[in-house]
Amino acid sequence: MNGFKEDENSNKSDSKDENNDKSESFNPSDYGYDLYPERKGKFKTSLSGLLSGREGNECNDRLRCEKTIYKCFQKSKIVQLMAGALKASGCPIDLKRHIACEVCDTSVSGGYDPELNQIVICQNSSKSEGIVHGILVHEMIHMFDYCNNKVDFKNLDHLACTEIRAANLTHCSFTSAMLQGDVSPWDFKNRHQDCVKTKALNSILAVRKVSLRDAFEAIERVFSKCYNDMEPIGRRMKPNSEDGKRAYSEGFLYGYV
Ligand SMILES: [Zn+2]
Repeated sequence: MNGFKEDENSNKSDSKDENNDKSESFNPSDYGYDLYPERKGKFKTSLSGLLSGREGNECNDRLRCEKTIYKCFQKSKIVQLMAGALKASGCPIDLKRHIACEVCDTSVSGGYDPELNQIVICQNSSKSEGIVHGILVHEMIHMFDYCNNKVDFKNLDHLACTEIRAANLTHCSFTSAMLQGDVSPWDFKNRHQDCVKTKALNSILAVRKVSLRDAFEAIERVFSKCYNDMEPIGRRMKPNSEDGKRAYSEGFLYGYV
């Protein structure tokens, strides 16, 4: 099982930097499209993959992934809140149309494809319910931003902003950030901001061929504005707390649920 691998991409950023001065023509790999081979119909099982047992389970994996997504929609208040917020914004989510389970490059766990307005869950690397739930909420924030704020994912500042918002509202929650060593209970506020910056930086570097410096500067430019924009969840989530339920129960104030 591969789990979250986004962080590994930050180590690869050096090699990406070397390619930076290429022509301005659109190169799909610069925007992460080669990380999702099924998007371009490129994924094929290989003999070595089948023999090693890494491949050949795609149908079972897909079915299990779809069931897990369905469970998250049934059980999770925060997923329901996000779905309600998307609906209220005029972008209702249809499970079959807007969420796809696919085989991805093992360096990513999920993604959002603005061209098709579709969330991708990487069925080969994201298997547990907790991980799928985290990716769903993260990508639904991108979907919400694309719907409401007309995010241009090719604009680095826009990308930085939506990644800051996704990290702020989900990943850098108290417990998970503490487990990653990003926050300590006595210095929550600053450590939380550091966690958001680090997570957003890793997310940008995972999907875009930009230098560490460019990504860092984009985050700094938009940080205070985007860190304080907590629509539509309204608060920084702390898992194992009542925050999910509380955000959901306040959702009616904004017409989300
Ligand atoms: Zn993201």
